[in-house]
Amino acid sequence: MNNAIEIDGSIGEGGGQVLRSSLSLSMFLKQPFTIKNIRAGRPRPGLMRQHITAVKAAAKICNAKVKGAEISSLKIEFYPGKVQSGTYKFDVGSAGSTTLVLQTLLPVLMVADGTTEISLSGGTHNQYSPPLDFLVNSYLRQINKMGPKVSVDLTAYGFYPVGAGMFTVKIDPAKELKQIEILSRGKNISKKAFAYSSKINEEIGENEMKIVAKKFGWLKENCKSVMVESPGPGNVVLLIDENEHTTEVFTGFGRKQYSLKKVVADAITEYTEYIQSEVPVYKYLADQMIIPMILAGAGRFITSEPSLHTLTNIKVVKKFLEVDISINQLNQNQWQVDISSKK
Ligand code: ATP
Repeated sequence: MNNAIEIDGSIGEGGGQVLRSSLSLSMFLKQPFTIKNIRAGRPRPGLMRQHITAVKAAAKICNAKVKGAEISSLKIEFYPGKVQSGTYKFDVGSAGSTTLVLQTLLPVLMVADGTTEISLSGGTHNQYSPPLDFLVNSYLRQINKMGPKVSVDLTAYGFYPVGAGMFTVKIDPAKELKQIEILSRGKNISKKAFAYSSKINEEIGENEMKIVAKKFGWLKENCKSVMVESPGPGNVVLLIDENEHTTEVFTGFGRKQYSLKKVVADAITEYTEYIQSEVPVYKYLADQMIIPMILAGAGRFITSEPSLHTLTNIKVVKKFLEVDISINQLNQNQWQVDISSKK
């Protein structure tokens, strides 16, 4: 393949994000790439269903030629063509994360030449992935500030292991991406908690919300337990902190042999860490903002100590583009990330 960039999938933490970020950048920049050692840092290396769906969906949207997109494959070649806005449907075919597939496709569609509507099915609230509520409230809130209008319409939740959730995303693109900075939270607007449950005893969610209301003294009407539509059983606890400039969502994932107290404690631990640090951008949003900010030409935010995900994403970006990214520690809990690309 001519002038293809070579990516080593084992860099940084060697997870699926190296592949997805490479796909996003390749589509956006029309830059072919090959990647070897895909997910070499994971117990079961190679492409899993969620990653194959991301590769195939990316290929469809930008008419790419692809080699090696098979289960367990350690290497692919990706040669992007012309981006086509329009109507698409992608099925992860398991409880694999749909939000990670969407985040792969979004950068190029945010500046495409027309509106795109994508229906996605699979997992919507997966451990180790952005839950749909985080994607909508936290990530898309910042993306929409950059100019595009991205909205989500959820029809069914998808929990591990059954998955089969479903939602539609509408992307009205911007001519170009605005540069944004997230340097403070601003005034607090609301603090809310939700327990979403499906096909389990209703009391589980109610008890989870009682713990949250008692712990923080939040009003009962702001701590809601809701039974939701989903083909399988599931339970998540979400703590949503909405501020003038940023919204963060902290999640505890219910699972077998895991007490409801632990589910709540997981969400509370991350929320407390966030509140105490006083940063506007928590660790998950931090790694997810790198690519949109690079593609806008610049961006800046204050976060907690950069995670391995953030550092890995920066390494991938540097393979595709000449960029200046500086990370400066401001005090014990806060780091400022300054991004500018020399496109
Ligand atoms: P694997 O490495 O097994 O392929 P993966 O493909 O699921 O894993 P990772 O490389 O681990 O992906 O990336 C996971 C992404 O999900 C990161 O961007 C991270 O910020 C995000 N994420 C994980 N947990 C949360 C959470 N609770 N809330 C928001 N985002 C999350």
